[in-house]
Amino acid sequence: MTNRSCTPLHRSHPSGLYRAKGLGEAPRMNVSRLFGMLTLGMALLLPGCAHRPDSSTGARWWKGNLHTHSLWSDGDDYPEMIAGWYKDQGYHFLSVSDHNTLQVGERWFALKNARGAGATLEKYRTAWGNDWVQQRTVKNVQEVRLRPLDEYRGRLEVPGRFLMVPGEEITDRYLTAPLHLNAHNLKHPIAAQGGSNVVQALQRNVDAVLAQRTATGQPMFPHINHPNFGWGITAEELMQIRGEQFFEVYNGHPAVYNEGDAGHPSIERMWDIALTWRLAFLGLGPLYGLATDDGHNYHTNSVNLSNPGRGWVQVRARNLKVESLIAALEAGDFYSSSGVELRDVRREHDRLRVEIDAQAGVNYRVEFIGTRRGFNPTHEPLVAGSGLPLRVTHRYSPDVGAILAVVDGPTAEYRLQGDEIYVRARISSSRAKANPGRVGEVEMAWTQPLVPDGR
Ligand SMILES: [Zn+2]
Ligand SMILES: [Zn+2]
Repeated sequence: MTNRSCTPLHRSHPSGLYRAKGLGEAPRMNVSRLFGMLTLGMALLLPGCAHRPDSSTGARWWKGNLHTHSLWSDGDDYPEMIAGWYKDQGYHFLSVSDHNTLQVGERWFALKNARGAGATLEKYRTAWGNDWVQQRTVKNVQEVRLRPLDEYRGRLEVPGRFLMVPGEEITDRYLTAPLHLNAHNLKHPIAAQGGSNVVQALQRNVDAVLAQRTATGQPMFPHINHPNFGWGITAEELMQIRGEQFFEVYNGHPAVYNEGDAGHPSIERMWDIALTWRLAFLGLGPLYGLATDDGHNYHTNSVNLSNPGRGWVQVRARNLKVESLIAALEAGDFYSSSGVELRDVRREHDRLRVEIDAQAGVNYRVEFIGTRRGFNPTHEPLVAGSGLPLRVTHRYSPDVGAILAVVDGPTAEYRLQGDEIYVRARISSSRAKANPGRVGEVEMAWTQPLVPDGR
């Protein structure tokens, strides 16, 4: 999953594989029944590298992952080890986003459960040294101190090369619906806010992040995670969240249903529905789609495990500072990838243009997807056998998120015809994804929408 045009830096930390310690807190999948769905069934600037700076602005691409778990919650490795892996793989920034915790304060991890012990601990000692690893025994239980971010980041970060971004996965729930939002560059942890329905709970969590941003003056942002995990969030709910600019269009965890199922649309379909309604009716801004790992399992690769390296963003910014990255993300100046790398994306007033960092022997297809004014806005809820509507994304006209053009090849351009509410590009390749989170995945990339009347 490294950038194929760029040579990663030398490995500064061992990252070999050793035995798995289990799935961690695997998502609970029984909630689908409750919703009655069954009736419907480098880093280095190298010549020719895709990360070369833009000669006109000095901006370049920075690769990062915004969703990661460690022993601070249900991941199965120490955060320094995980961050070292990402750095070694040529990533430029990483947000370790554990459930309902920022990596701050004193935390001791009991080794009586298998995670963190045995080979994992030995690997940690080898990489970081015996002096770094702090252990104690409490009531005959061995414990290891989890180092807070502020203690370890200085040993990994290199200006212009690798940056750690403080993160938290705010992990909330409404009845059986899991509601997870990542928050990046927080100054203080945020507790799950709760609410009396899905929209209210999501909104209260988004508002809490935005309120901390206002109060501290520090740039930070929330992103809504894996809407199809536990069928937690419908498109009708997703579209309503005010002040939210981001959600996950791809998540590498094998249990999040990026592709939907017989009764639920894919995340991409939900994106098109939400984009159309936000822009055409709700007066809300676009949602941008992030690709993330949601890694939990760092020792054995398997389609059944949540391994790192599956989904990432490439952010175009002038430098690797958190303020610059957040500003570029909020401007939509990034793309998301599960394998396809882009040399350039241009979202201009009259066109959307994509240039792929094409690899030999691989075929590429670019689909320009959007909704035109005058589209058919009718939509139908799905109804259970009892006649009651289900809390499931409605069925919409094919006008919503229509394929406006298809281009095969490494460069593609869509010129606006004047009636588009938005246009985005979806890039698919003929190459099977290495270590996928779903059997049959191919490498993909997604641009952010061009909104002619918006920005
Ligand atoms: Zn989650
Ligand atoms: Zn997660």
